[in-house]
Amino acid sequence: MSIIDLHSHSNRSDGKESPTEVFEHAAAAGVEILALTDHDTTSGWAEATEAAAKLGLGFVPGIEVTTRATVLVDGAKRFISVHMLAYLPDPQHKELAETMYETVNSREIRAMKITDLLSRDFPITWDLVLEMVEDGATIGRPAIADAMVKLGIVSDRSEAFAGSLDKHGPYYIATETIDTLAAIKLILDAGGVPVIAHPLTDLNPNSSRGDLPEEHFEILVAAGLAGFEIYHREVPENAREWLLQLAKKHDLIVTGSSDYHGIHGKPNRLGENTTSAEMLQRIITRASGTEAKL
Ligand code: AMP
Ligand code: FE
Ligand code: FE
Ligand code: ZN
Repeated sequence: MSIIDLHSHSNRSDGKESPTEVFEHAAAAGVEILALTDHDTTSGWAEATEAAAKLGLGFVPGIEVTTRATVLVDGAKRFISVHMLAYLPDPQHKELAETMYETVNSREIRAMKITDLLSRDFPITWDLVLEMVEDGATIGRPAIADAMVKLGIVSDRSEAFAGSLDKHGPYYIATETIDTLAAIKLILDAGGVPVIAHPLTDLNPNSSRGDLPEEHFEILVAAGLAGFEIYHREVPENAREWLLQLAKKHDLIVTGSSDYHGIHGKPNRLGENTTSAEMLQRIITRASGTEAKL
């Protein structure tokens, strides 16, 4: 039995550590197989491959693709943010690479706009936000949070997310990005396996499926969605049972992961949630884009 964690971030996106450091910490935590799934980039894969080989760990290449779904709730259109894990896609796939490039660009424009809104009330500047990220890394709200920490406005990222950076707060702007259905088709076309990351986290916690119609999920499954990351600290307990039933009905893959962002990035700890060897095998069997390094 291996300890398998299929979701982590490095400083190629919003994690605080290099891919090498992430794998060193994985080894120390007893994780044996780790997926690096930076937001909208594969730029950490090469370093992860090397680090994993040196440490004798398995490496599963992945991406956390930023997508947006349009859902009809009680006859009204609603846009929701859906993070789609893509396991083992071909990183050279032209359309996938172009889509990631565009998303990284629109994330940057959006982060600039959020910073601009914040600068009306706080002494934050875009230059300072840029200082918080490695060259070429995918920018997200965590970089803005880091700038606020640097300025002494908040003491850590979580405090920023609970305050000014909250999704429902006055400074929030959504990222313009690929539609969720289109992303599923694209990931499949690139030989990857699409799994929804931390489903139902941002939605009404009083309802098992956050008042989204079941049809929303059925449409994604019909398009080729392969599974759900059900065991994740942000997936509410009451959503898990419903998602498990849905997964059973369609014989989908079910995963569990940490979503590690570094020791000082987020409280999530490597190996705190894990995926079974059987489920990883199903991912590997379905993929044709690139190989897992086990
Ligand atoms: P964005 O993708 O720019 O909208 O930012 C969302 C990202 O912020 C998520 O992918 C998480 O990595 C990170 N995040 C969300 N909540 C927190 C938190 N409380 N502390 C640290 N990072 C967070
Ligand atoms: Fe993140
Ligand atoms: Fe995510
Ligand atoms: Zn993540």
